Amino acid sequence: MDKFSKRTRAVHSGVRRSKYNELSEAIFLTQGFVYDTAEQAEQRFVQLGDDEFIYARYGNPTVAMLEDRMADLEGVEAGFATASGMAAVNGALMSLLKAGDHVVSSRALFGSCLYILEEVLARFGVEVTLVDGRDMDAWKAAIRPDTKVVFFESISNPTLEVIDMKAVIDLAHANDALVVVDNAMATPVYSIAGELGADLIVYSTTKHVDGQGRCLGGIVLGKKELVRGPVEAYLKHTGGAMSPFNAWVMLKSLDTLMLRVNHQAETAMKLAEALDGHAKLNSVSFPLHPSHPQYEMTKAQYDGVGTVLAIDVKGGKDECFRFLNALNIFTITNNFADSKSLVTHPATTTHQRLPQELKDTLGITPGLVRVSCGLEDTDDLIADVLQALDAI
Ligand SMILES: *Cc1c(COP(=O)(O)O)cnc(C)c1O
Repeated sequence: MDKFSKRTRAVHSGVRRSKYNELSEAIFLTQGFVYDTAEQAEQRFVQLGDDEFIYARYGNPTVAMLEDRMADLEGVEAGFATASGMAAVNGALMSLLKAGDHVVSSRALFGSCLYILEEVLARFGVEVTLVDGRDMDAWKAAIRPDTKVVFFESISNPTLEVIDMKAVIDLAHANDALVVVDNAMATPVYSIAGELGADLIVYSTTKHVDGQGRCLGGIVLGKKELVRGPVEAYLKHTGGAMSPFNAWVMLKSLDTLMLRVNHQAETAMKLAEALDGHAKLNSVSFPLHPSHPQYEMTKAQYDGVGTVLAIDVKGGKDECFRFLNALNIFTITNNFADSKSLVTHPATTTHQRLPQELKDTLGITPGLVRVSCGLEDTDDLIADVLQALDAI
């Protein structure tokens, strides 16, 4: 599919047809696979070929279709699909690290990512240094000769800090460290991680890939030697595989991924423009809006930055809750990247347990709202936010 554009590949890549020549991708809802002969079974366990399967925890044709299509969209060689985004983050890190290794990571991370870095890895003797991901000097100071992995969210959830991915990848590679990128916010549509040479790229496919609030999923993408090597070995033996049914849902969703994400991203940009300088807001944060502190760097690297913006409502928690409760179309939830527009109050939900000091460092203020733009009419959404701000 190489010669076709991303939009075409999102619909066609990776298809495996059964002998019935079905049009729509089939769900192979099977745990196991049978062999014509004992010799064939033996051979599969000696060396499994590219399109051969033995057990769904190791691989399954429907899951393989999703893995191949996502790898193709990212411009990398291989993928391993997982039960959730966190299974993918955990699998990527655990498969590369061992006791005594050192990791450098940005601090502005999704709560569960922080848990893996600070709690899980520490229990297994991996030392982790957290830095302000926007500060190149901090990255330079933290990387050491024994640094094995550099980890970051390319665009952080929920504060929308942008990593200068090119600079951090170059720095890591100059020090022989592997780069693992959590790319959930950036989306597979606007990703530059594959092109810039990140070693492993992780998605929560729960987010934009499903994008319709149904299934959990994740994927680890990258070079074949890593994905079919340590990543697959770790994940297939520890049980993080995606179910074929969920893979099928995700695969069908890829048909519309670019249509959905492009539209939702456009709405996010228009909403940022409509809210810029609003009297009831301290700030509007969208990395491709000129008011974002990292606008120039972001614009130089990215064509799009996803479908989410962050706003900071003036006053405190009470004013913010009045705003949230006055919304008619946006729904209060802790998820994002859905066809339905969603709002989240990180300080009291997803980031509630963080110590106040870390909330302050990360900018998780009482007025911060993560605004995820869905597929509804853009003008309706803008009007909804404006009337809710008026209601404070
Ligand atoms: C949602 C999310 C995850 C976890 O994904 P799940 O599918 O919920 O396990 C990891 N990283 C980031 C940045 C996320 O937004």
